[in-house]
Amino acid sequence: KQPACECNSCYGGSDCSQFLTDCESNADGGDPYFLEPFWMQHASESAILVAGWHRMGYTFSDYAYISQELERLIRKVHDIAGNAVTQGRYIVIGAGSTHLLNAAVKALSFSSTSSFNSSSSSPASVVVSIPFYALYEAQTEYFRSVDYKFEGDGSLLQNITDGTKRVIEFVTAPNNPDGKLNKANFQGPNSEAIYDRVYYWPHFTPIPTPANDNVMVFSISKLTGHAGTRLGWAVIKDEEVYQRMLQHTLTSNLGISRDAQLRALKLLKVVVEGGGKEIFQFGYTTMRNRWENLSNALSVSNRFSLQKVEPQYCTFFQKIRGPSPAFAWVKCEREEDKDCYTVLKEEANVYGRSGSVFGAEDRYVRLALIRSQDDFDILLYRLNQLVSKEDAQP
Ligand code: PMP
Repeated sequence: KQPACECNSCYGGSDCSQFLTDCESNADGGDPYFLEPFWMQHASESAILVAGWHRMGYTFSDYAYISQELERLIRKVHDIAGNAVTQGRYIVIGAGSTHLLNAAVKALSFSSTSSFNSSSSSPASVVVSIPFYALYEAQTEYFRSVDYKFEGDGSLLQNITDGTKRVIEFVTAPNNPDGKLNKANFQGPNSEAIYDRVYYWPHFTPIPTPANDNVMVFSISKLTGHAGTRLGWAVIKDEEVYQRMLQHTLTSNLGISRDAQLRALKLLKVVVEGGGKEIFQFGYTTMRNRWENLSNALSVSNRFSLQKVEPQYCTFFQKIRGPSPAFAWVKCEREEDKDCYTVLKEEANVYGRSGSVFGAEDRYVRLALIRSQDDFDILLYRLNQLVSKEDAQP
């Protein structure tokens, strides 16, 4: 018997079977625990045991910034998923993709390394379209530099720029929060894009084509769910940009944990087994079911609506498949429900993330769908209850 104190916060009783109907639904943070059951099924193949004497030195001491086996597996997993071109591309690893986002801004802001006109000395404008993942702004501001400046909404800049302004654009595809496969708005000799593709895996989106952008960022966090391992990678076309990003990981961190690399390597070995079918099928089925359940719950509501995501052909599953996004981007439709986060919190005990955190209106709220099954079940239960109250109204 499990003691009550170890139960999920929504369950009680001596064996954790009693559903505590007044508990809160946490739909805020994006810990991808939806993949935990997959790893429980693969506990022994994914386990690592490291002897105390193993790989004690700094990564740079023998120029092994990245484990060759890890790099081989990263390229292999992209080949299998068909989500990115890696042939003839450079790979840099970072402590999570977070580490590489700023590395990319820095590398691209040096005018000599990019296609930027090198005579220009004003800081490059870092832009993104709304709604966007808040960390881009927080990080770019935090690591403030004379070489770049966060300018926010790219569409505003687009109207005033004559094409001479240096622009670095964050493009998130699929987007956090709304799952859209965004494309760069800025093109031309003075623009560079950093494609954040951490959700570009069959779990979350159809894969229409292998991505082939100049700078793309991926992460073990959303591929295998191991956000705590802190390992991400960038796939880079240009050698000089690669060298600068690599230098950034050395200057800021003296390289990336060998232990994290070893764990990632072991996890990727399991992922690529059998052509990746198992994890992607599991990830997709889980996310797809959640999306269908959520869409059904809200389809009878006049008060709340969900983002529209069109079905698309997926080259991995070789069929047209429906949406399975990592997040729901919910809109409160009633005029008076201007603050959708508070509506869900006060009326349903559901804690999401406000639209304004993503640069959007507070009429929107993001709900994480990638958390544990318990978290999702509670969210669905609460939303069903909330929507059923609508019917009761005259
Ligand atoms: N980009 C996006 C769009 C994300 O949602 C996240 C995590 N929430 C990250 C990057 C950071 O991921 P990592 O764990 O690899 O640092």
